[in-house]
Amino acid sequence: MSNSNLNAASIRIMCPNLTCRKVLAVPQSCRGKTVRCRSCGTNIRVPGPVVEAPKNAADQKPGTAAA
Ligand SMILES: [Zn+2]
Repeated sequence: MSNSNLNAASIRIMCPNLTCRKVLAVPQSCRGKTVRCRSCGTNIRVPGPVVEAPKNAADQKPGTAAA
């Protein structure tokens, strides 16, 4: 089928800084290394070999908040 080449182009990681949360695109060569967020300057560790790529980074919603 049609595979997007963007998958092998770069790694997309999100800044762990809750006040930033900027999505950074780093080259594959940065795996296992630490990059700095260009927005807030936070050091972000780039994950190594990805076993399973997260399709939907859906945050768990509280759903029915039982008050
Ligand atoms: Zn940041």
